[in-house]
Amino acid sequence: MDPVRLPLPVVDAAPVVPAVAKPFVHFAVLDDLLNAARANSLWPLTFGLACCAIEMMAVGASKYDLDRFGAGVFRPSARQADVMIFAGTISRKMGPVIKQLWDQMPSPKWSIAMGGCTIDGGPFKYPNQYAIYEGADHLVPVDVYIPGCPPRPEALIAGILRLQEKIKKGEKGDARP
Ligand code: SF4
Repeated sequence: MDPVRLPLPVVDAAPVVPAVAKPFVHFAVLDDLLNAARANSLWPLTFGLACCAIEMMAVGASKYDLDRFGAGVFRPSARQADVMIFAGTISRKMGPVIKQLWDQMPSPKWSIAMGGCTIDGGPFKYPNQYAIYEGADHLVPVDVYIPGCPPRPEALIAGILRLQEKIKKGEKGDARP
């Protein structure tokens, strides 16, 4: 007598992501974990341009203690940094240097424009001036702007917290066209 052959159960194949759709498919949990790690371990570049840099230095010192937010490890090499804090007037002479430092920073990377000079030229903006960039976004994409002349250390801390929120959401800065 022939054995009874039962039909094999049908198992759905694992869903395959078409190649054209791959750039738009994200593994949400992994992305969220990576973004949370990035947001809570920011390494700013040791980099000051003018008077606002004094306030930035104060933030790294004991009274304000930026280490509480995971962002106190200022790096002496652009290759080890992931945040560029523009702290001071951006002279035209510094433009190529800033571009080179930005290009040396590994991705993903972020920037903060600290103070009126880095937002739109601040007190040095007047018709026909030729000495400064009227905003850090003429050079690199800016993620967070902090107004003030200079902004207080608390304002820089608020800016870093705002940047952490943006990184956790996966948002990016915009460059001026
Ligand atoms: S915003 Fe004010 S304090 Fe900051 S670099 Fe410019 S002039 Fe100096």
